[in-house]
Amino acid sequence: MTALADLNREISLCQDCELAKTRNNVVPGGGSENAEIMFVGEAPGFYEDQQGKPFVGSAGKFLDELLQSIGLDRTKVYICNVIKCRPPNNRDPFPQEIEACRKWLDRQIEIISPKVIVTLGRHSMARFFRGASIGKIHGTAQRVDGRLCFAMYHPAAALHQQSLRKTIEADILKLPEIIAQQQDESPREEPKAEPGPEQLSLF
Ligand code: URA
Repeated sequence: MTALADLNREISLCQDCELAKTRNNVVPGGGSENAEIMFVGEAPGFYEDQQGKPFVGSAGKFLDELLQSIGLDRTKVYICNVIKCRPPNNRDPFPQEIEACRKWLDRQIEIISPKVIVTLGRHSMARFFRGASIGKIHGTAQRVDGRLCFAMYHPAAALHQQSLRKTIEADILKLPEIIAQQQDESPREEPKAEPGPEQLSLF
């Protein structure tokens, strides 16, 4: 078993919040343990809860198209969520649920050590970009606690609001350049930078 498989098994047994009582399946995440890019969504929805896999509904289909637009697919990235169990009726996660789940995402990031974390939507953004507004920072990257984070609208936003589709499609096209720049500037082994967000001059 790999470290990530071990961790995901541990996550699947979690009973640390009330969502453990209503879930059908825990959705730890999926993709490559060696991924350079980690996509972090909000929470599993109906189909994810049924299948135990992230982004398998209509938002997931759009995410697949977005990945394809930059020459990627799910085998090359890692996709997970801020919280690992479905909130009933897809309500917003409660702060205590996000807090109870914090350790799992922290450990996934530690094991995978992605070059870039892409936040999908408000709740994921709030986890990394403290106090930010998605309308202002989507399509931009900041270094947070030594790791590069790139903010995007949630793919489901395009399904509810057609006008956001083009924005999301344009935002993801910036990712390859950001990854290339990351390669030039900071090899993975480098010590962590000073904590706290710091706007990259590139944007
Ligand atoms: N929305 C999310 O944020 N995550 C999923 O896994 C599915 C839909």
